[in-house]
Amino acid sequence: MSVLRQYELVEKVKGYDPDADEALINRAYVFSMKAHGTQKRASGDPYFSHPIEVAGILTDLRLDDETIVTAILHDTIEDTVATPDEIEKLFGGSVARLVDGVTKLSRIEAQSESQRAAENLRKFLLAMSTDIRVLLVKLADRLHNMRTLHFIKDGEKRRRIARETMDIYAPLAERIGMYEFMTEMQTLAFRELEPDAYESITKRIERLHRGGGGDLIQRIGRGIKAHLEADGIEAEVQGREKHPYSIWRKMAERHVSFEQLSDVMAFRAIVGSVDECYRTLGLIHQRWPMVPGRFKDFISTPKRNGYRSLHTTIIHDEQMRIEIQIRTNEMHAQAEHGLAAHWAYKEGKLAATTKHPWISDLVEILEHAATAEELLEHTRMAMYQDRIFAFTPKGELIQLPKGATPIDFAYAVHTDLGDQTVGAKINGRVMPLRTPLGNGDQVEILVSKAQHPQPAWLSYVVTGKARAKIRRWVKSKEREETIALGRKIFDEIVQRLPAPLGWEAMTEALRRLHLPDDETLMEEIALKRIDDVAVMEALMPGSAMKEGVKPPPQRTAISIKGLTPGVAFHLADCCHPIPGDRIVGLRREGEGIEVHVIGCDNLASGIDADWVDLAWGDETDGGTARLSIIIKNQPGSLAVIAGILGSHGANIVSMDQTARDGSFHTFMLDVEVHDLQHLMRILAALRATDVVSTAERL
Ligand code: MN
Repeated sequence: MSVLRQYELVEKVKGYDPDADEALINRAYVFSMKAHGTQKRASGDPYFSHPIEVAGILTDLRLDDETIVTAILHDTIEDTVATPDEIEKLFGGSVARLVDGVTKLSRIEAQSESQRAAENLRKFLLAMSTDIRVLLVKLADRLHNMRTLHFIKDGEKRRRIARETMDIYAPLAERIGMYEFMTEMQTLAFRELEPDAYESITKRIERLHRGGGGDLIQRIGRGIKAHLEADGIEAEVQGREKHPYSIWRKMAERHVSFEQLSDVMAFRAIVGSVDECYRTLGLIHQRWPMVPGRFKDFISTPKRNGYRSLHTTIIHDEQMRIEIQIRTNEMHAQAEHGLAAHWAYKEGKLAATTKHPWISDLVEILEHAATAEELLEHTRMAMYQDRIFAFTPKGELIQLPKGATPIDFAYAVHTDLGDQTVGAKINGRVMPLRTPLGNGDQVEILVSKAQHPQPAWLSYVVTGKARAKIRRWVKSKEREETIALGRKIFDEIVQRLPAPLGWEAMTEALRRLHLPDDETLMEEIALKRIDDVAVMEALMPGSAMKEGVKPPPQRTAISIKGLTPGVAFHLADCCHPIPGDRIVGLRREGEGIEVHVIGCDNLASGIDADWVDLAWGDETDGGTARLSIIIKNQPGSLAVIAGILGSHGANIVSMDQTARDGSFHTFMLDVEVHDLQHLMRILAALRATDVVSTAERL
């Protein structure tokens, strides 16, 4: 076959874009020819013919010079000694980026089928195509490979490529509205995958034409054109048989044979205006009966991908059903070439003389989406821009949200891998674990059996899975520490018992307390869910009464960070700290630590003490807050207050009347609350009632 010559290619581009960079195209042509050297295609043609043909396909779409150059260079990085740096130096950053995009797509293509699901690959292709020109080059590349598929000797390889084209590339072409690409790909793939069906359908189509006597399609087409002309409508009428794959699919969908499938021919009337579209429809329906239920108005309601046309099916002479699509020139170009044509027309001229603003800007699509559905369809492309796709060293594709790190990657591959991560190589280089991954990165996780999840990872992982796994581990670690603390307190309790414990005491105690095992008991003790008296009674019934002690006052469910576990502390009476308050500890020789709210006036007296930085522990629940409220002196006021506190689940520990001022009474209340937020809600609720004049925390 003859390769498209250098000057022919340049002429073609110049033909629709006079401003195209001729020198750039020439440079690319020579560079690619040299780079591919003596490489050969399966057809025996020089390899170099392939990228040039791909470029040729794209000139039919009137694409800009950068896209054409990218097509010419698209296999140089992967298949020759050319480097990305070279490409950038010779052809600029923009072309280099495009070539890099296409190269990455080719790399994933090279992997075996089992390593990637079709759906993943489709998404990957979309995500990689941040510049849709990358996708266009890839589709043209695939189209040319399909055109030359029969040269490949290995039947299995041919079928794999055909299947992939059917599953992935044809739907992609359809999604961006390139029906010509889609149709040709489907036809070629169908021929490979179902050779018998292909042949039988093609033969039947031929026979049908002969049966009609001469060129049936042309005759019907001429008839329609004449009918319209008689009423003053100038139409271009095109007829075609439907392509074999779509006939085959219809046969399968409707479970009918070829003979029963009546509409295997389709016609298209292309007219000047929307107005003429509807007039044409009327004229056709007047002349031939329409088939009920087959009329569709995609002009008033375009398809999701922007497709517009009127569709109808009529019963033509001799009881032959034919499908007719009616559309304007603009609609037609858009239907054939997708978004490209849409923008070319929008700018009022066919030639893509301006710099392809239509292609790169997905936002434009959003603005021009006619319906919510169409918008959804288009944003699906944008949606994948939030995802990244990275590879394992074996080439497995891992899909992650943008911003994902090697830790997220590791957990996405396998929980054990995540747990044992100590480092990561991204594209062969060791990188920090907090490095956000990029699209197409190859990630190798370095592991150690001694490693375990690090709480610090939580600050930069983005996936729910990683977060959950790390949290779970941290929690189990915390539980271990809690149990250790509980055991320490337990030992103290045992010391206070009047007699040594017997062998069975622990088992008996657990039974009495309805606890499954001693670890749970230790945990309960540490978290103060069970008090000392109960433990003593369970271990040795009657022992607590002998001892006659109450549990130490601060054994409510409180844990404080910054204290050595087991160290005695008490919450100061002056300021009544509750969880959520910022707190500080005062430590004096021979005394427990006194916990104050930062800002407490009494801290002034603590100059002689050591100040300990403290924070509330996660398990902390509850504290006693002291409130001062002034209420109206009227019957039922106190009941209202009690009701509010009750409905908020706050227990009143004590209540004193501190002042009486005519119609107002002041009370001081100690109230058990969960934390500061709980208290704030209670105060807000109190203030909201009529009977309360003021409500403050002391
Ligand atoms: Mn290629």
